Amino acid sequence: MSIKVMIVGAKGRMGSEAVKMSLQDPELDFVCGVDSKLINVDVGEVIGIGPIGVPFYNSLETALEQFKVDVMVDLTTPKTVYNHMKTAIQAGVRPVVGTTGLSPAEIRELEELCKQHRVGGIIAPNFAIGAILMMKFSQMAAKYMPEVEIIEMHHDQKLDAPSGTAIKTAEMIAEVREEHRQGHPQEKEEIDGARGAFYQGFPIHSVRLPGLVAHQQVMFGSEGQTLTIRHDSIHRSSFMPGVNLSIKKVMVLEELIYGLEKVIE
Ligand code: NAP
Repeated sequence: MSIKVMIVGAKGRMGSEAVKMSLQDPELDFVCGVDSKLINVDVGEVIGIGPIGVPFYNSLETALEQFKVDVMVDLTTPKTVYNHMKTAIQAGVRPVVGTTGLSPAEIRELEELCKQHRVGGIIAPNFAIGAILMMKFSQMAAKYMPEVEIIEMHHDQKLDAPSGTAIKTAEMIAEVREEHRQGHPQEKEEIDGARGAFYQGFPIHSVRLPGLVAHQQVMFGSEGQTLTIRHDSIHRSSFMPGVNLSIKKVMVLEELIYGLEKVIE
């Protein structure tokens, strides 16, 4: 039986890629799109692929009343994602979330809510397999080269900084790196922010420019050598195999998983 999928933010850059991906997979049944404004218009018409007979709703609650859905994919904004997840979990619908910007406290609350309702969920700050490998390799390297800086680079329409991927990478590095402040103890910023944002003593820098999609470089330095691990998503299609995998995986989960690296062993 196919998995019934609702895509919240289906008109957006990521959402419209997710619509195309789900239409191509016979194991998935894309039943409804949710947008902040659009109602009773065909999702396919809006995203430029022609009519597909799937409507937009402008309210997640109404859409959940109208359709029996297995999975809610959320690709919206940091402001809306928490409430969307709460609504879905309470309705017994499994969230697969690519939207970044959830705080650690919100993630903990949502984990608890999933446990209470015995609903599986996945929050993936990055759905690209290459980015997951970049994070895993960075964690491996940090064990031996604990002096590290993260430079993440995204398009200039991105709302949150640092990126969810950079935060997740920092958390994974911190699991193996003894916390300590990097740089010269007397270093002084001549311009505020010059050294970036510090996570457990190591810097994260965020670049925002038109032309970029999603890129990250993790630089390690030790006596006489440096190591750079870099990943580039040059098209949003790079995220879709991870979205597809998450939709299938979440069907057999009974808890909330934060990070696709826990799904891809
Ligand atoms: P985008 O093009 O701005 O799309 C966001 C969409 O969400 C818009 O269509 C927007 O519609 C819609 N939206 C906003 N509020 C909504 C609401 N309350 N209900 C329903 N829809 C709502 O952004 P994007 O580039 O696709 O990125 C979306 C999210 O995914 C961001 O958080 C981004 O950081 C994240 N992202 C994740 C990954 C990953 O691998 N996990 C990769 C890339 C991006 P309106 O314009 O009408 O408000």
